[in-house]
Amino acid sequence: MNLTKIDYHMHTSYSDGEMSLPQLLEALEGNVNVCGVTDHFELNHSCSIEFTKNYLNAFGAFKESAKRHGITAHLGVETGLGKSGILLPFMTGEIEYIIASLHRVPLEEASSEEYWEAYKSIISENARRGGFQILGHVEGYLPIQPFLDRDPGFDKKREIERQIIHKHFTPDWYSHLAKDLEANDIALEIHEPSETPRLEVLDIMKRSGVVFSFGTDSHKPEQVSKRSYLKKAIQELDLKESDFLDIETIKSKI
Ligand SMILES: [Zn+2]
Ligand SMILES: [Zn+2]
Repeated sequence: MNLTKIDYHMHTSYSDGEMSLPQLLEALEGNVNVCGVTDHFELNHSCSIEFTKNYLNAFGAFKESAKRHGITAHLGVETGLGKSGILLPFMTGEIEYIIASLHRVPLEEASSEEYWEAYKSIISENARRGGFQILGHVEGYLPIQPFLDRDPGFDKKREIERQIIHKHFTPDWYSHLAKDLEANDIALEIHEPSETPRLEVLDIMKRSGVVFSFGTDSHKPEQVSKRSYLKKAIQELDLKESDFLDIETIKSKI
């Protein structure tokens, strides 16, 4: 397995991505050997996917043509984390793995302190409960919207995020989280676009035996080839194939 040629987190126009499945295949060529398509399935998401027969047929055709190009494609889903767990699509039998990401904290009028405590406790409770294979962008793409009165743009949002995680997402919290992730066979996602989790967090996870997944979270073709944070993490932490999730082994566990 070439670690820089995997990508388990990608979106298509079936949810909020811009690529059709054929366009995605074109973007994958030369960049990816093993991939997973993980469109959003979530309440309150304007572009939540419907796992219809049509979609599953289209995915089947995509998988076949990907195979002819030497690319193994898996069917995954990115679902939101809530207080009482994750919401699963009806046809779960077809789905090979689940990325669970927290996109919305169900709290209104909370102080920043209360809000991020609630965020962390939803993550912790779900890690303890299990039932999914990858914890998505745990300290990237944070739901900071309630604290913004206008969209400050991508880079500014990442800067705000860095301040939040520095203040609220402590090594101690991560050490406890690592134990639950490891116990429930949940991989932690290395998220390319937000360049998170921080290397020190990856180090805590690695020491606890947590495995990693990698995702570009691509919504557009030009995002599919991005690997700079992954390469940095591999180099700095000396990550090996055994430190990463093997998607082939998990289907039977869902
Ligand atoms: Zn997400
Ligand atoms: Zn995503």
